[in-house]
Amino acid sequence: MNSTYDPQNIFAKILRQEIPAIKVYEDEQTLAFMDIMPQANGHTLVIPKAEAVTLLDLSAEQAAYTIQIVQKVARAIEIALDAQGIVLMQLSGEAAGQTVPHVHFHLIPSSIHEMRQHAAQAGDPEEIKQTALKIKAALERV
Ligand code: 5GP
Repeated sequence: MNSTYDPQNIFAKILRQEIPAIKVYEDEQTLAFMDIMPQANGHTLVIPKAEAVTLLDLSAEQAAYTIQIVQKVARAIEIALDAQGIVLMQLSGEAAGQTVPHVHFHLIPSSIHEMRQHAAQAGDPEEIKQTALKIKAALERV
């Protein structure tokens, strides 16, 4: 599954600020931003900045650091949205249904039995922005 990185993928463009994203967290190694086709209100993506297509393309250190940020953002989502459960999803490889070839972790405050279809329908931008503000505020407390 060791795939070649395409620097023109949409998340690479977000990292280079060539296209906008509703960001909730950023540091030297990672970025967290809202999914534009949310499977539930609060659907957030956490990505390492390293050029990696799948989980298996990350070094152990990069993976370990990214999962710490995943946990931090999950805590903030729990607080911000009073989430009773969060689905953590990571699709590695087109064969798994991965549509954007830059490794990312989905945080979906919902149930696996209730969340909407994957990458299917654009969310309401205003609602997404309001939710992001709540998550950002909670991130300052975790
Ligand atoms: P994957 O199928 O690769 O696991 O997930 C890609 C995710 O990226 C999907 O949930 C999809 O809704 C989201 N997505 C696709 N294009 C964009 C975009 O331009 N901006 C943002 N914020 N999310 C996107």
